Amino acid sequence: MRNRYVIGNWKLNGSLAANDALLSTLKTRVLAVSGHYCGVCVPAPYIAQAQSLLSGTALGWGSQDVSRYDSGAYTGDFSAAMVADFGCQYAIVGHSERRSIFGDSDSDVAQKFGRARNGGLTPILCVGETLAERESGETERVVERQLQQVIAAHGVTALAGTILAYEPVWAIGTGKTASPAQAQEVHKFLRGLVFRQDAAVAESLPILYGGSVKQSNAAELFGMPDIDGGLIGGASLVAEEFSGIWDALRAARQ
Ligand code: PEP
Repeated sequence: MRNRYVIGNWKLNGSLAANDALLSTLKTRVLAVSGHYCGVCVPAPYIAQAQSLLSGTALGWGSQDVSRYDSGAYTGDFSAAMVADFGCQYAIVGHSERRSIFGDSDSDVAQKFGRARNGGLTPILCVGETLAERESGETERVVERQLQQVIAAHGVTALAGTILAYEPVWAIGTGKTASPAQAQEVHKFLRGLVFRQDAAVAESLPILYGGSVKQSNAAELFGMPDIDGGLIGGASLVAEEFSGIWDALRAARQ
């Protein structure tokens, strides 16, 4: 049995008051379940608030990025060790918004993955194709390139204990969700890619789906054999939706 996850990605959203209301509700709805984990990746300034509200609860917290450096003259960056100081368990790396808006290359993402992992965080490595890439039949080639860069930099065994997220760019924040069959096809491809390099790592690697997951479509997605949970953007800002997605994960049978 692989561990299963529902992780929220708040992106550039939140305020002290709004976070307080959201997390106070969520912590009453997310209770510990063996092999199942729920967490929120919050904007960096609110990590301390998440720590103070969520310590001792079943909800974990994390950052949405980390620097590819450890320390030094890198204005605006924050390191894996810094967020680990505030109890973060997770760090998203390679989100498509970091890749497309902030210019993170595959090699930057591989470095960030290594920093997060070595800093004691669980990296959530995002891969995914654009609409144009899907329409030109390049989905597998793109996600393979993105994942293989990390494997080339750190070795396949570095994926042990980490999380992979397949997030088709065309489905993020658009309301368009990959069908369960479409998502399963890519998840199976990704697991197969890892399997050919290390079967044990592939079997235990949680692969989350991200892209307009909601309470209403979560159960069907989470019922697919290679979908081990979700990375949730917009719906993670609404307590009812996010806790409903968590309930769907707990109820899903694979
Ligand atoms: C995301 O940004 O990781 C994401 C999946 O967003 P949304 O759920 O809003 O599509």
